[in-house]
Amino acid sequence: MTNRILTALLLMSSMLVMGSCAKDEGSEFLVDEPLQQYFDRFEAEAALRNVVIDYEALKISGDIRIITTPNVIGQCVHTDKEPNTVIVDKFYWETADDLEREFLVFHELGHCAINRPHLDDSDTHGDCVSIMTSGTGLCHINYTTATRTDLLDELFTQ
Ligand SMILES: [Zn+2]
Repeated sequence: MTNRILTALLLMSSMLVMGSCAKDEGSEFLVDEPLQQYFDRFEAEAALRNVVIDYEALKISGDIRIITTPNVIGQCVHTDKEPNTVIVDKFYWETADDLEREFLVFHELGHCAINRPHLDDSDTHGDCVSIMTSGTGLCHINYTTATRTDLLDELFTQ
């Protein structure tokens, strides 16, 4: 058993090495394990609304790391090194609950997967009409089990 685990670990590390070699070919994309379920959920919620999310084709990576820019808890970056990557801040992630994590990942995938820009419109209560709010306080974020369905409808039908 121990040997098997060791073999698996060795295999994993050699795959990682191969992965970094293949990076230049643009064939590598990795999603950090804790983010995967939210990526899956995003795909499932999109599918419910007849939107196809093909991560293989989009090559979106997901990474939890320390974001040093003040007041930024998530990013969708397009750089030479990271052509399409969702980044979430490690410290925010560790203290966020499930809905807060979902909101953040869905917002960034809104940029990275379906090319949505920011939208800061508010309803009559001052609540943001979209998950794609810039979060700069122009509207009040009210993402709860009660508002989730409407906000997901908005996200995938723009
Ligand atoms: Zn944004």
